[in-house]
Amino acid sequence: MPIHVIRDVNGLPMMTASVRPSAVVPPRSRSGSTRTFVGTDRVRLHAVAGEAVMARLPTILRQLNYVDETPGVVSSIGARRDVYLVDGRLSDSLEICRDLPAAAGKILTADNPTFADRKRSTEAGVDALIADPIDPRELGDWLEHFDDRGDGGRATVLIVDDDELAAEAVASLLAVRGIDVEIVVDPTQVFDVLHRCSFDLILMDLDMPHVDGIELARMIRLNRSHLSVPIVFLSAGGDTETQMLARRFGGDDFISKRTPRDLLGRLVELRVERARVLRTLIERDGLTGLVDHLRFVERVGQELARSRRTGNDCSLVMIDLDHFKTINDTWGHQAGDLVLRRLASALVSWLRRTDVVGRYGGEEFGVLMLDTPPERAAPVIDAFRRHFAALDMIVGESAVNITFSAGIAGLGQAADTATLVAAADEALYRAKIGGRDRVVVSDRRADGDGPHAARPASAVPAADEPPRPPVATATIPLATVGPATMGPSREETR
Ligand code: GH3
Ligand code: MG
Ligand code: MG
Repeated sequence: MPIHVIRDVNGLPMMTASVRPSAVVPPRSRSGSTRTFVGTDRVRLHAVAGEAVMARLPTILRQLNYVDETPGVVSSIGARRDVYLVDGRLSDSLEICRDLPAAAGKILTADNPTFADRKRSTEAGVDALIADPIDPRELGDWLEHFDDRGDGGRATVLIVDDDELAAEAVASLLAVRGIDVEIVVDPTQVFDVLHRCSFDLILMDLDMPHVDGIELARMIRLNRSHLSVPIVFLSAGGDTETQMLARRFGGDDFISKRTPRDLLGRLVELRVERARVLRTLIERDGLTGLVDHLRFVERVGQELARSRRTGNDCSLVMIDLDHFKTINDTWGHQAGDLVLRRLASALVSWLRRTDVVGRYGGEEFGVLMLDTPPERAAPVIDAFRRHFAALDMIVGESAVNITFSAGIAGLGQAADTATLVAAADEALYRAKIGGRDRVVVSDRRADGDGPHAARPASAVPAADEPPRPPVATATIPLATVGPATMGPSREETR
């Protein structure tokens, strides 16, 4: 058996890197006050700040979809990661940071930090320094970053080693650390495996028969989509010249096979953690933090192949904001950007963790709902449509309600990625010409000669009249806009 997967060790519950149970310790500050905010990210933000920052913060956070925590809301939202935003102008800001729980995210504001400020910040355990005055986009990026740490599924490592026993020994060291491992003992199988799924890291034996590790690494790097995956060589000895050669051809690191077991597991784990942070930056869309177009399409292809093998149907959903140009034209591009971010984070919170949400294009989003046929996907997306339309979007000084249209196609309805995307796009187009603010399921069949029509999802609005472009329902001073309605957590919609 050339390939096998170790998903767990001894059938024990697997360790996951998901959101840690919160240990909310309200920090005490001599000079500032504390307030807690929640949003649709799985983050709970505790702000410790002086009066000036505290006065501006609710407005900034509302643009990021965060509202003051109210007891009723919190209990319905489930596990969240605690993140602290500490006002760097407080005299005891560093002391506060030092006393915060180790697992919490720590953001400190700083106005033009000096070298010494940065050094003191890291010593106090600060994870992020942000500009003061706070830029909503910068804060939003960090909040997403902290949300991501506990997300993105389990870490996966591919081990390529002709010595099956040695590979299994390493695999079990990683499995106890909550890392999924796939082993390839026959190097000619590597490309099949890489085509099927993506890995956070490849651990490669340097000495193998027929092809050595360096050659194989070069072959892997020939493919554009495998340029960024770290390759770490496991070597018995490895002289300096071999190491130089390996690095020149895209190897990232060396670990000696003689490294003590515990240390080896930890070394690989640290490498994987770092690789995941970098991967997020490389593969994610900068504005929304969602997987970018290229990766999304790649993922659709992988799932298409998987659903062929398993017979499980999945759905591709295309979502496009209605009359989005009006938002940009009326309130500016920056306001439009915040709407896009808000749709992205609301969508991610609404769906299951296994669903893949991507930024398909400008204001078009793609969702891949795994093991969910279109007839089950449609009511979920339609419920989200209603939820989203009811959210108060803060654009400029106004609160508006914005809608989207969606088209859904089943993976079973298409022979390849292009046909599938075309079917979902066609359904989206029907939703647009049908009046927008609705979800339409494609009727297209796999053989391609089905009725190239699309039928509306079961729950579409009855309105015959197309909704008009968003206009501010009222110009409300920001401070009086009520808290946005929270959607159920991913766990609840599962
Ligand atoms: P429709 O209901 O037909 O979809 O109308 P629409 O106004 O949304 O029309 P269309 O899809 O043609 O317009 C898309 C607009 O989205 C145009 C473009 O300026 C804007 N857009 C695309 N990417 C971004 C972005 O990253 N940020 C912002 N603010 N706007 C973007
Ligand atoms: Mg649009
Ligand atoms: Mg568009």
